[in-house]
Amino acid sequence: MDHFIYKDGALHAEDVPIAEIAAAVGTPFYVYSTATLLRHYRMLDEALEGTDHLVCYAMKAASNQAILKTLAQAGAGMDVVSGGEYMRAKAAGVPGDKIVFSGIGKTADEIRLALKGGIRQFNVESEPEMEVLNRVACEVGVTAPITIRVNPDVDAKTHAKIATGKSENKFGIPIARAREVYAMAGAMEHLDVIGIDVHIGSQLTDLAPFELAYQKVAELTEILRADGHNIRRLDLGGGLGIPYARSNEAPPLPTDYGALVKRTVGHLGCEIEIEPGRLIAGNAGCMISEVIYVKSGEGRNFLILDGAMNDLIRPAMYEAHHDIIPVIEPAPGTEQAPIDIVGPVCESGDTFAKQRMMPPVAAGELVAFRSAGAYGAVMSSEYNTRPLIPEVLVHGDQYAVIRARPTFDEMINRDTIPPWL
Ligand SMILES: *Cc1c(COP(=O)(O)O)cnc(C)c1O
Repeated sequence: MDHFIYKDGALHAEDVPIAEIAAAVGTPFYVYSTATLLRHYRMLDEALEGTDHLVCYAMKAASNQAILKTLAQAGAGMDVVSGGEYMRAKAAGVPGDKIVFSGIGKTADEIRLALKGGIRQFNVESEPEMEVLNRVACEVGVTAPITIRVNPDVDAKTHAKIATGKSENKFGIPIARAREVYAMAGAMEHLDVIGIDVHIGSQLTDLAPFELAYQKVAELTEILRADGHNIRRLDLGGGLGIPYARSNEAPPLPTDYGALVKRTVGHLGCEIEIEPGRLIAGNAGCMISEVIYVKSGEGRNFLILDGAMNDLIRPAMYEAHHDIIPVIEPAPGTEQAPIDIVGPVCESGDTFAKQRMMPPVAAGELVAFRSAGAYGAVMSSEYNTRPLIPEVLVHGDQYAVIRARPTFDEMINRDTIPPWL
């Protein structure tokens, strides 16, 4: 249930007809459902009921201020991966003690920003980072709470570009070296070693890799405690997958994930953190695009849209599938035919789907890319000087533009001409 449903033959976001938003803001655009965002957050929060826990939304998935504020007001913490994201979280009203700082390349400036503004913990990924953190914390005159991200060498069985938990990946510290690295951290005066962090990848559609990774974290907790570390918080990362092709995918349920967490690490008495991004935002957003032309090729037909790879890069970058549906509901029994669905950018990579079975859609009609809420708007660019597309948030029967489309002048005026021209 994602609140993007047909009512009276027309696709709605909650109680607002998509066509009404399109008429007001123009296409293409992203539209998010408040009810879906909150539903997904609450499902995860409830799945961990009975444990001391915090759901930290991985805001890199969709980081509009309105989305952050919606989740923050519901009680979510935030997982940030840059100084900019840290500032976004603060601007949305998230207190520092609910912000977790992840990422393998935190700069001294970013660390300073977070230490001064308040932070729940840093998830440290290397010894050199540990040293910089210790030095900057000393400078600022505080103690930095840290977990160390361990790499459990578990195959997440997901797309290679978003798998992070194998030893060949650039993330974390090999679990086999954990004792040594924790000992180093424990000896640093301005670090407070509070826990362990693990994140094995994104869009996991099977719970088994989580189970393996969390078992390893549980074992490590006991070992590190025996070494004298006061391990009291476990950050179990994000990565739960969502159904992109609704007809044939059934990813794990949050309740089963919650049960797995309790089964593997529940006995340790640690505070639990999770960092879901995609599961909260993915199915809470659609990209809406208009058909510019229907072109007949040799043995192949093309639906040419006004949305392109710069607006939604997932198909080009990860070979990702998005369900694409007409905004006007096809009559029951309408015949479908295969068609290539493409954008206007001059490269063949600008293809959303090949030989996709679609009901007839005419030029001027609208289509919706489902499951585009996560890693959609945030990864968009202005390639081809196509303006960043607007974002719209729906709440019941209301909607609001939460990021406006820039004008051509605004785009051009961001450039500056050097004095010699
Ligand atoms: C990307 C990322 C997440 C979120 O991943 P999802 O698949 O969107 O849930 C969480 N934690 C870390 C460290 C990440 O890099």
